[in-house]
Amino acid sequence: GACEDTHDCKILLALCLSWAFSLLWFSELTDQQKEFQQLARRFAREEIVPVAPAYDRSGEYPFPVIKKAWELGLINGHIPQEYGGMGLSIFDSCLITEELAYGCTGVQTAMEANSLGQMPVIIAGNDAQKRKYLGRMTEEPLMCAYCVTEPGAGSDVAGIKTRAVKMGDEYVVNGQKMWITNGGKANWYFLLARTNPDPKCPASKAFTGFIVDADTPGIQVGRKEMNMGQRCSDTRGITFEDVRIPKENVLVTEGAGFKIAMGAFDNTRPPVAAGATGLAQRALDEATTYALERKTFGKVIAEHQAVSFLLAEMAMKVELARMAYQRSAWEVDQGRRNTYYASIAKAFAGDIANQVATDAVQIFGGNGFNSEYPVEKLMRDAKIYQIYEGTAQIQRLIIAREHLGRVKK
Ligand SMILES: Cc1cc2nc3c(=O)[nH]c(=O)nc-3n(C[C@H](O)[C@H](O)[C@H](O)COP(=O)(O)OP(=O)(O)OC[C@H]3O[C@@H](n4cnc5c(N)ncnc54)[C@H](O)[C@@H]3O)c2cc1C
Repeated sequence: GACEDTHDCKILLALCLSWAFSLLWFSELTDQQKEFQQLARRFAREEIVPVAPAYDRSGEYPFPVIKKAWELGLINGHIPQEYGGMGLSIFDSCLITEELAYGCTGVQTAMEANSLGQMPVIIAGNDAQKRKYLGRMTEEPLMCAYCVTEPGAGSDVAGIKTRAVKMGDEYVVNGQKMWITNGGKANWYFLLARTNPDPKCPASKAFTGFIVDADTPGIQVGRKEMNMGQRCSDTRGITFEDVRIPKENVLVTEGAGFKIAMGAFDNTRPPVAAGATGLAQRALDEATTYALERKTFGKVIAEHQAVSFLLAEMAMKVELARMAYQRSAWEVDQGRRNTYYASIAKAFAGDIANQVATDAVQIFGGNGFNSEYPVEKLMRDAKIYQIYEGTAQIQRLIIAREHLGRVKK
């Protein structure tokens, strides 16, 4: 009896703590932030959760869901007001992203890839470029994509081979891109290409960032890739063959591309971490509900200490991942360099999403391994968070570099 009481108490304590944490955060959000969060939460529960399993099975692009989200202002929020957006901070965008990811990270990644494609234009575009390419996305539910990775180079961005050669008022682009999210759905691409062929030229000067209309002649979109998870997100290879881009579509100036492409990550890694946190929260919620229903040896499995402690560990990870993404978003919103925090948030949230989803499968037992239950999808969906937007290893390289750099100074 006493032993069971202790277990009950622990579960209660864990629940209270988790409530206290969320209330603490919640009370610090502004009314407007709460409104966005609630809107996104309701949208995820009502519009994404019910259709997510079918999209996962079919791999179909969830355009009807994206269109509804667009109508409600749940995407493109970070586009500045003068170009038709809401000018949301990264912090506010992250709150929305976490909620949408709770519903389905396949859907959320399709939406998030839009932000990634837009970010170089937001941070480096001139007025005419912003008006033309960001403006049209607030007028119509259009998608865009971030076109950097190639078959031969992902982590090693400076190893990309796509070439852009200046000819008169145009650049002529040849090369191959790979793993481009929204590759087949984008209206335009942010493209990174090499403009200086000299292998001795430093990365900071050798590459140029372009905006490319997707219907430009010479662009060939590959087949939709069949991935382990986030299956309704559209991932493709793209081939550029003598694609002519007007010089007006160069971001900043020739040679400035590497910095722009990498700089976008300071703004997009916090939301990627928020997405991973949303997935982890979902896994925790599913596992908790299940653990309070499933009975073994005469009691619900949540009353077995091994299971309740697993839930406690999962809760700790989710809370800390949330704090990490919020810190990294807040830093960049203050106008401070957040590279260190963004990589910590992305690496941590990516790792714990995988751990928490795996633990959720464990708590579901045999049912966890089966596609009739929601958690095997979460486990498959989680993996990509350790790979895209800089792998788990690359984040550690960045964190180590930033950390040692601070100490050495
Ligand atoms: C579903 C999906 C969507 C994607 N969406 C986009 C997109 O929209 N736009 C885009 O441009 N790209 C996109 N990517 C590409 C993604 O960013 C890359 O796959 C990722 O950066 C890793 O690059 P890679 O696949 O070439 O692996 P590699 O760079 O070949 O790495 C292979 C392994 O080696 C490790 N490694 C590499 N270098 C080091 C090192 N120096 N030290 C330690 N370990 C190292 C890596 O961590 C990894 O484990 C997407 C990928 C996927 C799968």
